[in-house]
Amino acid sequence: MQSVNPYTGETIRTYPSESDEQVDQRIRAADRAFRDWRQTPFAERARLMHSAAAVLRDRKRELADLMADEMGKVLRDGVSEIEKCASCCDFYANNAPAFLANQHVDSDAANSYVAFDPLGVILAVMPWNFPFWQVFRFAAPSLMAGNVAVLKHASNVSGCALAIQEIFQQAGFAQSVFGTLLVESARVEKIIHHPLVRAVTLTGSTPAGRSVAGIAGSELKKTVLELGGSDAYVVLEDADLGLAVRTCAQSRLINAGQSCIAAKRFIVVSALYGQFVQRYVEEFNAICCGDPKDGETDIGPLARHDLRDGVHGQVQKSVQQGARLLAGGQIPAGRSACYPATVLADVKPGMAAFDEEIFGPVAAIIEAPGEQQAVALANQSQYGLGAAVFTGDAARADRIARDIEAGSVFVNAFVKSDARLPFGGVKHSGYGRELSSFGIREFVNIKTVWHG
Ligand code: NAP
Repeated sequence: MQSVNPYTGETIRTYPSESDEQVDQRIRAADRAFRDWRQTPFAERARLMHSAAAVLRDRKRELADLMADEMGKVLRDGVSEIEKCASCCDFYANNAPAFLANQHVDSDAANSYVAFDPLGVILAVMPWNFPFWQVFRFAAPSLMAGNVAVLKHASNVSGCALAIQEIFQQAGFAQSVFGTLLVESARVEKIIHHPLVRAVTLTGSTPAGRSVAGIAGSELKKTVLELGGSDAYVVLEDADLGLAVRTCAQSRLINAGQSCIAAKRFIVVSALYGQFVQRYVEEFNAICCGDPKDGETDIGPLARHDLRDGVHGQVQKSVQQGARLLAGGQIPAGRSACYPATVLADVKPGMAAFDEEIFGPVAAIIEAPGEQQAVALANQSQYGLGAAVFTGDAARADRIARDIEAGSVFVNAFVKSDARLPFGGVKHSGYGRELSSFGIREFVNIKTVWHG
């Protein structure tokens, strides 16, 4: 497996993948570690999780540098990502005991209660776009719940994968409570079939989720799936236009557009459409793609050259299908995997920019005659991850929020994850929830205990 710097095009390092036997040994070691870890009191688990947070904070610049090298994330965003991971560790260290406390229930029993027991070894299959955050938002709650984890990270971020394993060890966790498996995706099937793997979480594309869910289903193993998205941002005639344009542009450019919850489709009512398009194009024309280690850079390159070419193909296809290209849309010269901030207007259902997820800095702007049609267009998607609505009327926003088929709806703001609130999708964006009290209860045995 190769780590290639997407800005310079140079190969950083090649990692040999582990043999089936090594993988089996690691899973067995994880299961042995589970026997002790599940008995470890919450206070001790919390001490270690706070220690992981401290290690992350100490190493944030070095880890941001690693992300810049392996997948092109700009340094300041890398530092924020590591800080967010540290906060997530602290959050679950502080709150897991309350989230998983026994719940007394009045019944016919002399005493009956619900307990939350860990399951064992959980397999996490993770993507490269937030190589630390995606892993920590799963690992912090899962480990605090008493589970142990094996990570199969994306093949282009093996350095990040190994760094995460090291962080847990540096924090003082017993070996094998968290382990990294260096394997390609073709090997995941066999790992899911391993009898000691109890459940699987996958963050990644919808096809990968479909495959993993099918295999896990054949083994009756629980899955949580955080998949793709094509988040719609609905802009109504009573919106603050300046706020809407700025927020929509900012959200589309998160991580150079490579975020599952980046805004992807902008559905603007006719009354504001012309002005919105004009101001949005101005915002995007001011954006420069460049060296992720240069403090002046707005967006870094896409994570791999083949992914950049795929994004460009979707833009070209949309233009052929009738979308108007108003900014960007050309592959720049040079060795980097940069792609310019690109605006497509007059996008309609049936075009690639409407029907597919575009994982890059490409905005699809869609006109809707009014509110009803705007909400219908927002829901006209195979995905249902996040959405936003821009309006000056809070009651109207609440009504629309309930009509939108998505795991979260933000009002006059862009969608973001927060350890205190549940995160996840519906439809082809997956199922199950991460974060908050809901996330930590995904991988536990919700056990009834009944005293006669
Ligand atoms: P991807 O190709 O699906 O890869 C994600 C992970 O799954 C990688 O570790 C990959 O390993 C593995 N994988 C790929 N195909 C697999 C298969 N058939 N069986 C088992 N494992 C498989 O996704 P990506 O291109 O890296 O990431 C972008 C996608 O992730 C986008 O669709 C994005 O929206 C989604 N995403 C969703 C969320 C969310 O929270 N909902 C968050 C971030 C990203 P290899 O690298 O070895 O192929």
